[in-house]
Amino acid sequence: MEIAERIAENVACVRGRIAAAASASGRSPEGIALVAVTKYVGPEEIRAVVAAGCTLLGESRPQQLWDRAAALADLPVRWHLIGHLQRNKVRRTLPLVEMVQSADSPRLIAAIDEAAGELGRAAPILLEVNVSGEDAKHGFAPDELMRYLGNLPGLRNVEVRGLMCMAGLGGGAEAARREFASLRELRDRLRKDCPPGVQLDELSMGMSGDYEIAIREGATMVRVGSALFEGLTE
Ligand SMILES: *Cc1c(COP(=O)(O)O)cnc(C)c1O
Repeated sequence: MEIAERIAENVACVRGRIAAAASASGRSPEGIALVAVTKYVGPEEIRAVVAAGCTLLGESRPQQLWDRAAALADLPVRWHLIGHLQRNKVRRTLPLVEMVQSADSPRLIAAIDEAAGELGRAAPILLEVNVSGEDAKHGFAPDELMRYLGNLPGLRNVEVRGLMCMAGLGGGAEAARREFASLRELRDRLRKDCPPGVQLDELSMGMSGDYEIAIREGATMVRVGSALFEGLTE
């Protein structure tokens, strides 16, 4: 089967499962954005996924995002950064992305705010939360995030839109469900006395192995990579 055909089938399958999970929890599929994570594939596969209707793309490495955004500049796509951003890469990354989903520290957020000011634009971000508490993971600890938002420094250009998390590795479906539920509950608690200008509407959670669980727990964005590119033969 052609690469493009196979990818179009995968996209249809994932979209169908998103719609089914949404309706099973009484939600509209329009309320769930599919971020196609392109980190495993090359330009040909990315062009095929865009042709199949996925125009919101995610990369986890800033440098790879720069290269891809340049190579695919002719495509009508929006990029989200979903992995760790070093402060010295903010200036180069920000002009290329619609959103930084992986804002994981006060100092990074301050750097994004400053760079957005220089560009004269707003910078929508999600706050990454380390819900599983694994040392190897980036992100705010839940109580650290409460303190940060309770004492938010004046941000002029950063717009906080919501929270993002990754489920812990190897914990299985029930552990993932609990972590997604805990992100939603944290969001609901934080919303009660959110500083002005902070919106916590978005919950970015769920990847190829667990996006349906995440949708049932309230995800508004799912970040799917391998499921969109499986079954490709050279
Ligand atoms: C790679 C990655 C994904 C997608 O993972 P799959 O399991 O391939 O769907 C989602 N989110 C982040 C932060 C990633 O790094």
